[in-house]
Amino acid sequence: MADCVFCKIAAKEIPSNLVYEDEQVTAFKDLEPQAPVHVLVIPKKHIESVLALSDEDRALVAHIFVDVIPQLAKTLGVDAKGFRVVANTGEEGGQTVKHLHFHLLGGRSMQWPPG
Ligand code: AMP
Ligand code: ZN
Repeated sequence: MADCVFCKIAAKEIPSNLVYEDEQVTAFKDLEPQAPVHVLVIPKKHIESVLALSDEDRALVAHIFVDVIPQLAKTLGVDAKGFRVVANTGEEGGQTVKHLHFHLLGGRSMQWPPG
């Protein structure tokens, strides 16, 4: 999608610190990390948010959660102590980039409730 920063990262039109990539998914370091480990996992396909997921995205979401996130947690060394996966959605959810992304945060103790 034109003018979508994450589409451009997925297409390598703008640089990022890539930590993982396959045919459907890209993961890269967040520009403003909120924890020692802060990676964004995105589908290469433009999907606006969790709310825009459709039936045809089931395998993609399963791939992200069954394959990519657990593997990344291990690679990044946060699997043993734990980590957090966040999908900010919409205005009150704090979503600033309108391309579905999952924050993978770890390397420190997380607080609850979130701000
Ligand atoms: P959200 O607020 O949930 O929409 O998250 C968007 C995230 O994208 C924020 O944590 C930003 O720091 C991050 N971000 C925005 N632009 C870039 C970029 N070019 N490269 C890496 N991370 C980015
Ligand atoms: Zn996009």
